[in-house]
Amino acid sequence: MRLQNYRMVPITICPSMVLRTAWGARNAVNRIPMEFTPVPYIVIHHGMVPITICPSMVLRTAWGARNAVNRIPMEFTPVPYIVIHHGSIMTSCNNKVRCSELMRIYQDMHMEKQNWHDIGYSFAIGEDGNVYEGSGWSMRGSHTSNYNSQSIGILMMGNFEKKLPNDAALKALNLLISCGVRLGLIYEDYHIVGHNQTQPTNRLTPCPGEALYEYLKRMPRWIEQPIPFVYQE
Ligand SMILES: [Zn+2]
Repeated sequence: MRLQNYRMVPITICPSMVLRTAWGARNAVNRIPMEFTPVPYIVIHHGMVPITICPSMVLRTAWGARNAVNRIPMEFTPVPYIVIHHGSIMTSCNNKVRCSELMRIYQDMHMEKQNWHDIGYSFAIGEDGNVYEGSGWSMRGSHTSNYNSQSIGILMMGNFEKKLPNDAALKALNLLISCGVRLGLIYEDYHIVGHNQTQPTNRLTPCPGEALYEYLKRMPRWIEQPIPFVYQE
């Protein structure tokens, strides 16, 4: 064979697969090995109930995340708090390419300027209706002093002082929360708060923006005066 005619062919022998850790699986009570391998039968099923318990999620590898310097497990799980942020001056995004780019900008900013171990947020939501994985469900973020070990911090990408995130983003937010509860990662009787409420004495930050804050106040699990379990971060 003449080498110059040889081409490397990208071979995909298996379809793209969301592994157990990625879809938030619980541990099985028992793992029983298959008795006959290779298996002789394939049985086809269809979903009896069209349940969408989790929104579509762009995982770290998909938006091009750098490795975290350190991955610190969440101290309290399921988490009792959800803290909502907005991007303030950062621009909004309504497609996967632009939202992924924003994620990388946030991660670079947090790791290089703030010296944090990873992107600060647990998740971010774009106006493309996608959820972008930050530090994720079980690793501690760096989004809210005193709450990082006991909350999921969600960034709504855009500026929401005067307007709300679009319907796709709000739908993704609500679905992400109910997904976390269904998966047992968010405490059933969780509380949701805006970033500004976590600084009760001096309310230094206007985050998550006035319009979005008014929306949060109408959510059933919103509370006015959150109290963290520990003040240690
Ligand atoms: Zn914030």
